[in-house]
Amino acid sequence: MIVLLEPQALPEDAERVRAFLVGMGLWCESSSENGIIRAWRILPHSAHVDAAGLDRIRQQNSVAGVLAGTSKHPLLDAMPRVFTIHRTEIGRGKPVVVMAGPCSVESAAQIDEAASAVAAAGGRFLRGSAYKPRSSPYGFSGYGVPALRWLRDAADRYGLGVISEVTSENEVAAVAQVADLVQIGARHMHDFALLRAVAAQQKPALLKRAPAATVEEWLLAAECLLAAGAPSVIFCERGIRGFDPSARNLADIGAVALLANVYGLPVVVDPSHGAGRRDLIVPLSCAGVAAGAAGILVEAHPDPSLAQSDGPQALLLRDLPALASSVHRVQQALA
Ligand code: PEP
Ligand code: MN
Repeated sequence: MIVLLEPQALPEDAERVRAFLVGMGLWCESSSENGIIRAWRILPHSAHVDAAGLDRIRQQNSVAGVLAGTSKHPLLDAMPRVFTIHRTEIGRGKPVVVMAGPCSVESAAQIDEAASAVAAAGGRFLRGSAYKPRSSPYGFSGYGVPALRWLRDAADRYGLGVISEVTSENEVAAVAQVADLVQIGARHMHDFALLRAVAAQQKPALLKRAPAATVEEWLLAAECLLAAGAPSVIFCERGIRGFDPSARNLADIGAVALLANVYGLPVVVDPSHGAGRRDLIVPLSCAGVAAGAAGILVEAHPDPSLAQSDGPQALLLRDLPALASSVHRVQQALA
C-alpha cells in the first residue's frame, strides 16, 4: 500500500501523517523526490487495514490518496510471461528449452566439446560456471575470467546462449559481459546486495530457489531483481532440502506446477541438482516439463568421472539427444 502526500505537503505534514500511520500499526518507508517526502510506502509486515481504516487514512490532512494493491510482488505480476533471450523464446506455450553444460568450465577443450553436443541435441543455451560456490572451502572454485572467455567462445561457435553464475558482487560485471542469462545460485537467492548488483547490469536473471526458501520468498527475491532494474527473471527449481539421503535434494515439482500454472511464470527445472544423481535426470526432466516447466537446466560433461565438480549428477554428452527428445515428446503429448 502507498500513501501519497499532497504536492505542497511540508516535512512536518509528512511527519504528522507518518505518526498517524504508525499509530495504526503500519510500518512506513519514505518515497522521496529531490529530498522531499512524496509518499509513505507501507511495508508488508504491517497490521491489516480494513476499508474503514483506509477511509481514515484518506481523510488525513496532506494525504492526496491511497494506492491499496494487495500483491506483494506487483512488478512480477506485471512481468511479461514470455521473453526472447538470445533468439530463443522462453515461457508459457513455447517449445521447452534445453539448457545444458558442465557444472564448471574446466578448459577450452572441455567446454567446446560440451557446446558441440548441446547444439547437436537441439539445446539453446550452454551452461558453465567460472565462479563456483562450494560447500567446502577446499573444493574447486572455478577458473574465473579465462573460463568466461572459453565459455563465450564455445557458445558462439555453436550458436548457443550462455548461462553462468555469479557468487559475489565483484564478479557481476565480468559475468554479465559474457552471459545472456546471469545465474543466481541457490546459496545466493537471499543475497539482496548481489541481486541488486545483477539487476543493475540490465541482463535477464536465472534465479535458483534457495534450498530452504518458501515459494513466496522466491517470488519476492524475483521482485527485488525487477525493482532494481532487471528486465526479466526466469525461475529455476533445483531441489529443496529434504530428509532422505537417497537423493541430494528433493526436486519440488509441485512448486514448478504452482509457478507455471497458477502464476504463469517462466520456470525451468534443474534435475541435476534436484536429485544429485545421473539416473534421475531424464525422469525428473520429464516430470518438470509435464508440470509446466518452460525448460530444463542439466549438467552434462564430456567425462563426468573427471569433473572438478558435480560429476555424479552430470549426464554423458551422448545421452543429451535422448533427453531432449523425451522432454519434447512429453510436452507434445500434453499440448
Ligand atoms: C550450479 O548450477 O552448478 C549450482 C551451484 O547450482 P545451485 O546453486 O542450484 O546449487
Ligand atoms: Mn553444479
